[in-house]
Amino acid sequence: MDKRDEPIESLSQTGRIVHPTAETKAAAHIKDYEVEYRRSIADPEAFWDKIAKELEWFSPWTKVLEWNYPWAKWFVGATCNISYNCLDRHVKTWRRNKVAVIWVGEQGEERVFTYGELLRQVNRCANALKALGLKKGDRVTIYLPKIPEQIVAMLACARIGVIHSVVYSGFSAPALESRIQDAESRVVITADCGYDRGKRIALKTVVDQAVSNCGTVETVVVVRREKPGVPLTASKEVDWDDWLAGERAQCEAEPLDAETPLYILYTSGTTGKPKGVVHVHGGYMVGTYITTKYVFDLKEEDVYFCVADPGWVTGHSYIVYGPLLNGATILTAEGKPDYPNPGRWWHLIERYGVSIFYTTPTAVRLLMKYGEEWPKKYDLSTLRVLGTVGEPINPEAWEWYHRVTGGDKPIMDTWWQTETGMILVTPLPSVPLKPGSATRPFLGIEADVVDRAGNSLPANAGGFAVIKKPWPAMMRTIYKDPDRYQVYWNTIPNCYTAGDVCRKDEQGYLWFMGRADDVIKVAGNRIGTAEVESALVSHQAVAEAAVIGKPHKTVGESIKAFVILKQGYQSSHELLHALKDHVLKELGKIAVPHEIDVVTSLPKTRSGKIMRRVLKAQELGQDPGDISTIEE
Ligand code: ATP
Ligand code: MG
Repeated sequence: MDKRDEPIESLSQTGRIVHPTAETKAAAHIKDYEVEYRRSIADPEAFWDKIAKELEWFSPWTKVLEWNYPWAKWFVGATCNISYNCLDRHVKTWRRNKVAVIWVGEQGEERVFTYGELLRQVNRCANALKALGLKKGDRVTIYLPKIPEQIVAMLACARIGVIHSVVYSGFSAPALESRIQDAESRVVITADCGYDRGKRIALKTVVDQAVSNCGTVETVVVVRREKPGVPLTASKEVDWDDWLAGERAQCEAEPLDAETPLYILYTSGTTGKPKGVVHVHGGYMVGTYITTKYVFDLKEEDVYFCVADPGWVTGHSYIVYGPLLNGATILTAEGKPDYPNPGRWWHLIERYGVSIFYTTPTAVRLLMKYGEEWPKKYDLSTLRVLGTVGEPINPEAWEWYHRVTGGDKPIMDTWWQTETGMILVTPLPSVPLKPGSATRPFLGIEADVVDRAGNSLPANAGGFAVIKKPWPAMMRTIYKDPDRYQVYWNTIPNCYTAGDVCRKDEQGYLWFMGRADDVIKVAGNRIGTAEVESALVSHQAVAEAAVIGKPHKTVGESIKAFVILKQGYQSSHELLHALKDHVLKELGKIAVPHEIDVVTSLPKTRSGKIMRRVLKAQELGQDPGDISTIEE
């Protein structure tokens, strides 16, 4: 048997079960997950048909799904516009003057947009794009810091059928350049600068450098935050305010076929060269709308705070589109969780009465390092539902997050990808939680754990995470690379292969164990990285950990761990021994690292994910491949 076909060992034991409080259950949109789930997958098309009807369409579909494996079309023949559903749908109602976006800058500035005002800004920007001659299908690259203009520009593109490509503003000139070139953008929207932990990040200079090699770019629009403004020298450069100055605040949303591309977004590059994922108006709108509503149990009066950057898919789906589709009030803040001090986010939660808070395991671990004193200083009693995304959350971090926020708020560990567009595996607030597990598939989603041939594996056997049926917000292709798209659906027969390894326990709860590419093969056992890392982090001295496999002459691969110690701990022979001992107790002999290096930082993507392939390349003296998304 090919080694790759062997199941993946799962070594960790399921911990405690956290039941929803009576209050949470009573409030939840979905009260009985089991019943609703069974109903939804008995006829997924009927389920999605019903959900789609909660939104507004300019003309109806003739078919919910057209599936020519592996190509999907959803809401066939319908016309719609996601920006209409994010804005006009609310402005027509009492929500006209409801707060849509509260933005807080790193320097303490505050800007508030009602739905009415956001629509006016978006319309003016859409008219300005039209004045430049942009039409349906053209591409615009948005390279902005986390300021409201980012949201305005995205929705303005959507309004007229222009495809946006948001590039995270932390990227270097070469990374930006290759993304502009790949998209062949006609316009780049940027700013003079962003702020990061008090440091001024000059963005305009990065754009100058990138654009000098991008022949397709006709116009560079610059938001100037500072006075006096950075000089605009080239004839193609225009100031954002001047650009919008003469534009009318009315602009009809263009009726678009449901399959019209909405955006291109490059993946995080954790496992390799980033892929330009393409999402479309109709299905993406339905998927992000309903997941935001059900997963976070969103209600009219909630204040929703997602700390992501719109430069990542989480920002696209769960700062901009999903919440606005629901008419929510969104808080968004520039800057890092520990600047000017580690109370930053807790302070914002108190100040704005945040009720839904969505963050990442990396950020939770960072805040953990600063201790519980920080959250304790603030009134967090408005919180109702919490979330995490991006990596498996180790039970240690889960428990901390749960405890410091009051001990009774449900944590939605949401599993999904840039490619999936929407959350696919997640608890709902009414579902019993198991810390460390993303729990169950969302309604209408069939997820499974299989071997390479596509056979379902028995409970607790590790294997590949797959999705068995198409879903509305799935990517439609990889930009200019349809072959690469097909790989997702052709790797394991008849399903979408996510590239993650996972196990399903007796109750059908899914436990993500890391990336398939990172699986370590020790003495005939295949081990996911997440369990070993989680075991290391559960030792009181360890703040963060990453493990890789190293070729070993007798056991195939040996485990090498890199750990960052918590403040107050020092590396010593005894400590390393204690760490090995700890893993031995937690997981057993085969998971014990052969080597442990104490380090002060780990290579991460700019979205905060550990790049194990870079550690491995370093360790083995190999070429690390594409590192355009690495954090410096
Ligand atoms: P690339 O595909 O370029 O290597 P990436 O996979 O990091 O980058 P994203 O689409 O941002 O790009 O991340 C999706 C991945 O993040 C998932 O495949 C999974 O590995 C991980 N992930 C996201 N949420 C969770 C979660 N709740 N639990 C476990 N893993 C998660
Ligand atoms: Mg990926």
